[in-house]
Amino acid sequence: MAEYLASIFGTEKDKVNCSFYFKIGACRHGDRCSRLHNKPTFSQTIALLNIYRNPQNSSQSADGLRCAVSDVEMQEHYDEFFEEVFTEMEEKYGEVEEMNVCDNLGDHLVGNVYVKFRREEDAEKAVIDLNNRWFNGQPIHAELSPVTDFREACCRQYEMGECTRGGFCNFMHLKPISRELRRELYGRRRKKHRSRSRSRERRSRSRDRERDRRRSRDRERSGRF
Ligand SMILES: [Zn+2]
Ligand SMILES: [Zn+2]
Repeated sequence: MAEYLASIFGTEKDKVNCSFYFKIGACRHGDRCSRLHNKPTFSQTIALLNIYRNPQNSSQSADGLRCAVSDVEMQEHYDEFFEEVFTEMEEKYGEVEEMNVCDNLGDHLVGNVYVKFRREEDAEKAVIDLNNRWFNGQPIHAELSPVTDFREACCRQYEMGECTRGGFCNFMHLKPISRELRRELYGRRRKKHRSRSRSRERRSRSRDRERDRRRSRDRERSGRF
């Protein structure tokens, strides 16, 4: 029996645990869900809820017509947002393995950002600190997320441009960043690791921390964080 329960944990057959929360880290029923949302006590992944604002969604006029935000401007705005958050996470909390942003419209998924750190302790540190910070004039709501495998959480039809449920789909619609930014963010890190020896890294760490503190103080004054 115990084996059976383990094999169906978090699937649709599981009548106790919510499969949506387990796979996607968010469920449209929220706290009113009839099944359990097992909030993790440790995880590599954190979720920043409703933090990305898609300018195309907020610029829709009353008659439903899209106004001025073109797809190119849209991608630029998105890349800028992605880079800012990614860089902040790596500089402040630790190496990021993967970051994803939801382009869904449902309340429980709209603008959610998932950051998967390499180390669980960095994720823990990040959640505590981020809940005391602001972004774009709004307090940040961060939590540890059960999501570790984004292949399971995302909508395959969306990736092929075929999701008929649109923005209100209950699987993640992960908006891709431009190829150039992908190369810059994920490639830069590999380079840094190749060229820096571990001992040098340790020696320069306190210097780095001082610099980071200075930099983030400056940013807090001018930037969105
Ligand atoms: Zn649920
Ligand atoms: Zn979908």
